[in-house]
Amino acid sequence: MAHKAVFLDRDGTLNEEVGYVNHLERFILLTRVGEAIHLLNQNDLKAVVITNQSGVARGYFPESLIPLVHQKMQDLLKEDGAHLDGIYYCPHHPDVGVPPYRQKCRCRKPEPGLIEEAVKDLDLDLRSSYMIGDRGVDIEFARRVGAKGILVLTGYGKGEWEYGGRHWKEKPDHVAQDLLEAVRWILLQESKH
Ligand SMILES: [Mg+2]
Ligand SMILES: [Zn+2]
Repeated sequence: MAHKAVFLDRDGTLNEEVGYVNHLERFILLTRVGEAIHLLNQNDLKAVVITNQSGVARGYFPESLIPLVHQKMQDLLKEDGAHLDGIYYCPHHPDVGVPPYRQKCRCRKPEPGLIEEAVKDLDLDLRSSYMIGDRGVDIEFARRVGAKGILVLTGYGKGEWEYGGRHWKEKPDHVAQDLLEAVRWILLQESKH
């Protein structure tokens, strides 16, 4: 049977939104994120990061920085007994920078490319999966792939929700203060079936 997943946006959802994480030192995990992901691990929900990193296309940092940042992320999570089951990123931008990073790709959220890759690698069932993020685009993305969408009010979340939220075509299934609250809501939904 296919697994359920909780797809996670990275910047503003797991770590502090700093514009661009263009140096290892700028990656700062938000509080309670380790606890949240540990809960997913314990409950057999695959924790999968899906992140747009157009800073590469924009020339702000080399693509080689991304695996270093992700290693730091996994190391910090490990301190809380938590791990990510997959990490997928898009380094492209449709109209900034130079090819090959400048391209209309299929992997930049809300395009579904990265999730399709994750589904193949990890055998996931999108219909019973969730997406958590701090921007409207994350919710749009959730709808597009048929998962439930949860907005967190960390990162850009509070501003996106207060100043744009009511105009969104796609409304979140739930709005949570932070990742831990979002995960607790998911576990509550799961306990209902
Ligand atoms: Mg974000
Ligand atoms: Zn891409």
